[in-house]
Amino acid sequence: MAKYIFVTGGVVSSLGKGIAAASIGKLLEWNGYKIALIKCDPYINVDPGTMNPYQHGEVYVTDDGAETDLDLGHYHRYTSSPLSKWSNVTTGKVYQKVITKERRGDFLGGTVQVIPHITNEIKHEIRQVEKKYDVDVVLVEIGGTVGDIESLPFLESIRQMKNEKGFGNAINLHLTLVPYIKAAGEMKTKPTQHSVGKLREIGIQPEILMVRTEKHLPAEARSKIALFCNVEEDCVIEAKDVDDVYEIPLMFKKNGLDKILLDKLKLKRKKGASSTKWQKAIDIRKSAKKKVKIGVIGKYIALQDAYKSIDESLQHGAIANRIKLDLIKLEADDLESKKASELKDVFKDITGILVPGGFGVRGINGKLIAARYARENGIPYFGICLGMQIAVIEFARNVCGLKSANSTEFNARTKYPVISLLTEQKDIKWMGGTMRLGQYKCNLKEGSIVREVYDAAMVMERHRHRYEFNGSYKDKFRKKGMILSGIHPKGKLVEIIELKDHPWYLAVQFHPEFKSKPDAPHPLFRAFVKAASELGR
Ligand code: GLN
Repeated sequence: MAKYIFVTGGVVSSLGKGIAAASIGKLLEWNGYKIALIKCDPYINVDPGTMNPYQHGEVYVTDDGAETDLDLGHYHRYTSSPLSKWSNVTTGKVYQKVITKERRGDFLGGTVQVIPHITNEIKHEIRQVEKKYDVDVVLVEIGGTVGDIESLPFLESIRQMKNEKGFGNAINLHLTLVPYIKAAGEMKTKPTQHSVGKLREIGIQPEILMVRTEKHLPAEARSKIALFCNVEEDCVIEAKDVDDVYEIPLMFKKNGLDKILLDKLKLKRKKGASSTKWQKAIDIRKSAKKKVKIGVIGKYIALQDAYKSIDESLQHGAIANRIKLDLIKLEADDLESKKASELKDVFKDITGILVPGGFGVRGINGKLIAARYARENGIPYFGICLGMQIAVIEFARNVCGLKSANSTEFNARTKYPVISLLTEQKDIKWMGGTMRLGQYKCNLKEGSIVREVYDAAMVMERHRHRYEFNGSYKDKFRKKGMILSGIHPKGKLVEIIELKDHPWYLAVQFHPEFKSKPDAPHPLFRAFVKAASELGR
């Protein structure tokens, strides 16, 4: 029987609850326990797959093809938690299941209600992880902020689960903010008191409070929080802002959080994975002197979280090369109007260009300009998903002379549809969860860059797209110097392309960024950052 930690958040959003939950998971792993993380999202979408990145940030894709919350990306980077469609529970998913049951007649004669039907379904969903995976502790993060109407059924569910699990088998950890008021020169505990009060109203008394602060939490503030929130004083854990988010689990360890967690859950410290590897990655990041400047050309640049896994994977690539990353984010639209001389300015000192995934026509021209600039100037280029489709269109137009080449996503009637809808997508009408999703095999061509980088003949990578490289153009492209270096064995889909006469030009139809960690960088990001740093020499 697994033990549970329920993680809630109060006062304001964006406190970094996902990273906090992931860091707690990491602490338990360092103490020898197998953990699983689950994210509960109170919104009514069944999954975030249909949401604009401006609404939601990145959509994280799992091996089994679930489109999930970006917090699962944090879970992956920090821990070894299993991640699958069972790891993200949304209000939409829960209601969809309950309503299907109602229509089938499962509740014949009864009135279907939030309590118990919705809450039972939430509990059932959460328990699936414990059933499917062999883990000791399940961490359940509840999205949103305590006090939101829509998170109430989730809070009620975890209240019930804690009672069912019994003393010592489940605890609540609440993350809040203690703001520093400059004018008063004081840290204020009232919002935390109110937030815990709100939780207690619904029957949840947290055992541990984690307080986000800008400054060191004074002893009086800690005692006050303990007294008013009915929490033991040493269970008020300070979570001060840090420069490097990967330091958070180490900071928690230093603050004694692991001892408290083990004590509350009646667990003994076991011989666990050591924190040395993690610490080493952070030390490298801190001490690296040499810099590499890499440009990411996106269309959701204004939102910090839109390309989260890509940003992080580039950081991991930098760690692997003992380099400091200077990440420049460029809005694709802004490149469109630039003259050649202005482009030189924009890309000055940038020695690596990455075009990430995306949907829809906005920003396409700017991305094409970036891909062309990288190709013509011998700058390392890394295309991911849409970034590969862009590379193919650019090559068709400017190398193969197919001037109006395009993807049918952007021009359904293009004369040269070098990127076209996947065959299996042709009859699909519903937009939710219907892309080519999840892990697929890819065979790597002998003698190619990818074959050397991965040091393998076959890899598995995760996908999320509807369009593909149009196979009928294979020969034309090959003749002009494109290497089709990664092929999906079934259907012969082109998954990776490279260019012959270029130092490092590589584009992939999949999303390697979902599989990178600070202490286990993805080989493609390692190689791309290396190529970029070598160009800068
Ligand atoms: N819009 C493109 C497609 O659907 C690319 C998707 C992506 O970059 N994730 O194929």
